[in-house]
Amino acid sequence: MGGCGTLAGNAFRSGNASMSSSQALYPVPEDVAAGAAIRKDDYERMYAESVADPDAFWAGVADRLQWDRKPTSIRDVSFDLEDFRIRWYADGELNASVNCLDRHLETRGDKTALVWEADDPATDPRHVSYRELHARVCRLANALRSLGVRKGDRVTIYLPMIVEAAVAMLACARIGAIHTVVFGGFSPNSIADRIADCGSRLVITADEGVRGGKKVPLKANVDAALKLPGTTSVETVLVVRHTGGAVDMQMPRDRWYDAVVDDQPDTCVPERMNAEDPLFILYTSGSTGKPKGVLHTTGGYLVFASYTHECAFDLKEDDVFWCTADVGWVTGHSYIVYGPLANGATALMFEGVPNYPDSSRFWQVVDRHKVTLFYTAPTAIRALMREGDGPVKKTDRSSLRILGTVGEPINPEAWRWYFDVVGDSRCPIVDTWWQTETGGHLITPLPGAIAAKPGSATLPFFGVRPAIVDANGKVLEGEAEGNLVILDSWPGQMRTVYGDDQRFIDTYFKTYPGMYFTGDGCRRDADGYYWITGRVDDVINVSGHRIGTAEVESALVSHPKVAEAAVVGFPHDVKGQGIYAYVTLVAGEQGDDALRKELVTHVRKEIGPIASPDHLQWAPGLPKTRSGKIMRRILRKIAENAPEQLGDTSTLADPSVVDALVQNRRVPD
Ligand code: ATP
Ligand code: MG
Repeated sequence: MGGCGTLAGNAFRSGNASMSSSQALYPVPEDVAAGAAIRKDDYERMYAESVADPDAFWAGVADRLQWDRKPTSIRDVSFDLEDFRIRWYADGELNASVNCLDRHLETRGDKTALVWEADDPATDPRHVSYRELHARVCRLANALRSLGVRKGDRVTIYLPMIVEAAVAMLACARIGAIHTVVFGGFSPNSIADRIADCGSRLVITADEGVRGGKKVPLKANVDAALKLPGTTSVETVLVVRHTGGAVDMQMPRDRWYDAVVDDQPDTCVPERMNAEDPLFILYTSGSTGKPKGVLHTTGGYLVFASYTHECAFDLKEDDVFWCTADVGWVTGHSYIVYGPLANGATALMFEGVPNYPDSSRFWQVVDRHKVTLFYTAPTAIRALMREGDGPVKKTDRSSLRILGTVGEPINPEAWRWYFDVVGDSRCPIVDTWWQTETGGHLITPLPGAIAAKPGSATLPFFGVRPAIVDANGKVLEGEAEGNLVILDSWPGQMRTVYGDDQRFIDTYFKTYPGMYFTGDGCRRDADGYYWITGRVDDVINVSGHRIGTAEVESALVSHPKVAEAAVVGFPHDVKGQGIYAYVTLVAGEQGDDALRKELVTHVRKEIGPIASPDHLQWAPGLPKTRSGKIMRRILRKIAENAPEQLGDTSTLADPSVVDALVQNRRVPD
């Protein structure tokens, strides 16, 4: 498996790590470096400056925005629990929608802000200019005001991937309402939980969504949600006509979007916001438990989202940027809406899914719109890799310049396929590590500056001070493995869990006092590169050796017959914890005892005997969150033979895969 198969266990580390890390180095291509705004020495100098004098650095970066009142206070932060505060640009004033729209009108009024590509390729794509987007946002903002929505009110957005989703977010921002987008794949229960948690006054939805040719009954889901307890705060439901499907309108609560919005004036005086006024609440994807209502504020978030977007993708004026995430996740917030639009970029919004009408669709869309910057998730890459090179190779893709990934550790095997096949070995890959909580990238390559290693998120972004601590919170130096913490704040950091300051402190600042705890395990190699090894809860301790789930999974996926793998620990009499692997084979392969042995041998060879799976179960499907992440806590319960303790499975994309796994689980004698 080349570069990443180094064992996490201490005893084995030294011999292996440095050799494999140098083998796997993908230098910055010369032409990319030549054209890049930030090159290697720029990165080193700017990073040093950013941590030596964060006030000066972030004061400079803040000039990228248009402020109604320029901040004089830049950074006001203490992670000390006695005196806790996180405030950035605290006396600054600005409006996020003005920064994403109005200020571009003079120079970029006719430039395309959003390209919309429908689920059905036969539907004509739409190009929305900055001028048109501005007018549409103003009309909805006026409509919201006419419906009584005021600064600080919460508005729930439950929409498909259509332009109105961005319009709705920016219209809320314009009048100072706090939006909370709920992914269109969520059920009535999940919508109701989120509405109850934040007390929304208004819901913006559509008649139906369409994904992969199938209708999603959005309005009916909202109707069902609003019958559930805790949702009486909702006074109005605005319904976008999208498919034209029949819906049940309940007057006076329900209003057609076009009837309320279309006749509004197309200018709207923006609300002047303090930098620390909330911009949105977004619930985490729920990989590890009950989702948290992450609160982001206006100034710091917008500075950070736009700056990371520009740097990580080496953004140029003519780029066409496509992030395939849904706007219901933070990736869609920061890198479809706020980052690109604050930067005056052209962003593509895709209603559909990667394999509809066929598994060539992503690349057809790339060709159709001459996408230059492409950003997706390992789950999508693995799914497409499973279909072979053919669907990719029959497209051109020569417009592509940079490829990005986010969401989970990317297996080196998938990384190399992305690089060689999708990018024709031409396009640097940026593996961006971040969280809903961080607002934007914290550890990421900058494509013109930082050489890549498949599977590593590489080096920290400007101003970000990652550290690796042991279980007692001792900061480890040099090559190390342990828990990933961040020592100091950055402007895009979340400010609280909505309505629950205590949960915020308890979750992120109590484990290691004085530090932000990410919840992720991490290894730093001899070159100072960071490798996310999985959630801390998922790191497996086999006979005293810490083994990252990501490493064993990558070893399994590097076998040609394996499409996907998920690895968890389970109680083991001798070793403390044993390794339990769930394996999905590539299309057409059959799982039998011979293959099981072959895979165990393969892992021994790739990583070492200590990482051999003790049990390997064939998995036709893996339990994933609706954002496509493997939910290992469920797999852990099955491996522990405790299927009655699966806990909250409401954020699963397809709960039925769990039943099959439970049935075929290993039952200890
Ligand atoms: P919850 O916090 O509710 O359990 P979640 O952590 O899945 O859900 P997100 O904020 O969407 O919610 O995901 C952030 C997490 O995703 C990170 O903590 C990390 O575990 C993983 N992640 C994101 N990007 C990367 C990456 N490039 N490499 C490795 N892991 C990543
Ligand atoms: Mg998380």
